[in-house]
Amino acid sequence: MNRVSLLKCDSYDAKKIESKIRYGFELLGGEEYIRSIIPQNSSIMLKPNLLSIERVGSPVVTNDVFFEGVIRVLKDYSSNIKFGDSPGFGDSRRAAEKCGLINVANKYGVEFVPFKEEVHVTLEKAIRCTSWNVSKEAYESDVLITLPKMKTHAMAYFTGAIKNQFGCIVGTKKASWHTRMPEANNFSKMLLDLNSVLGTDYAIMDGIVAMQGNGPKNGEPYNMNSIIMGKSLSAVDSIAAYLMGYKDPLETPILKEVHDSKWGPVLIEDIKVLGEDLESMSVDDFELCRKGGNFYFINPSVTNFLRGMIAPYPSLIKEKCIKCKRCVDVCPETPKAVLMKKNNKNEVWPVWDMKQCIRCFCCQELCPVGAIETRKTTLGRLLNGGDK
Ligand code: SF4
Ligand code: SF4
Repeated sequence: MNRVSLLKCDSYDAKKIESKIRYGFELLGGEEYIRSIIPQNSSIMLKPNLLSIERVGSPVVTNDVFFEGVIRVLKDYSSNIKFGDSPGFGDSRRAAEKCGLINVANKYGVEFVPFKEEVHVTLEKAIRCTSWNVSKEAYESDVLITLPKMKTHAMAYFTGAIKNQFGCIVGTKKASWHTRMPEANNFSKMLLDLNSVLGTDYAIMDGIVAMQGNGPKNGEPYNMNSIIMGKSLSAVDSIAAYLMGYKDPLETPILKEVHDSKWGPVLIEDIKVLGEDLESMSVDDFELCRKGGNFYFINPSVTNFLRGMIAPYPSLIKEKCIKCKRCVDVCPETPKAVLMKKNNKNEVWPVWDMKQCIRCFCCQELCPVGAIETRKTTLGRLLNGGDK
């Protein structure tokens, strides 16, 4: 049975996090277990979540103190540790600097590698995508350890260990995957293949302060007080989803695809949780996000017809909009599905063309001020039990 460690940690204190992670490894099998992940003389690449340029302590990104706690443990097992990412928007070095990760890395001799260089690789036994261009540094590292943040997500319901490696697709190339895989089920299959091709070895999730509501960038912090770690990315994600309140992992698009394709363990009864008790750590007042995924499981042949009537859609909160035009810049569609347009009062606002929009929610994800929300149509609400 697949095992994960679930650890209670109620503050960002590097020494406390270090000791929790050491304890988590001990529960899972100690030195022998660690060496099965990090053989002698291996290089390690850490992949935090650097979605965008965020301040120190922001719940959008992997916390800098959490990052320090992880490094304090791993430096005992490798003298060659690097970290990197390619954010959805903006310069990766700036993103790593602003949220404090570069400071921490410098303190421990950990090198920052902006994911800019690509390597072309193929995946023979793919679920869906055989041909890949991925970050060379992430691909070539001996051990790839993902450090996701526990957050809600408009399209995928939540984002964790599996989705975090989307940052190993370099820069704007991410947009083309959204265009090629607009349905959540295919996008999820793509993410599983991406992790297979990268060979992501391990996950240590920052769930100390999680994000609820309008995630993955504009939600609210929530003290989940947990760290989850394990070899299986899907097991770690499944436990995270359960803690948040998705009691059936199969309702979340990525975990459903994991289960259907037998990519990894998903069902709670197939995962052994060590450390804390899962029930007592899980919460019932976390604001979930169930606005994206399910629609896209509808038969693709009727998708275009049904999209306008059922699909959730990005919607502007005018009072928050600063007219920065980022939503237009990040839209992967050609022509753009959102444009800055003048209205009859001569005011310029972002305006969406819902026929063109593939509902990837990149605009919602990357709006710097949370001025875009995901809304359901009336019919969509009815079909989903009346929630907004
Ligand atoms: S909706 Fe957000 S991203 Fe778009 S212009 Fe307004 S503030 Fe900028
Ligand atoms: S408008 Fe927003 S949701 Fe629609 S395709 Fe563009 S980025 Fe995706």
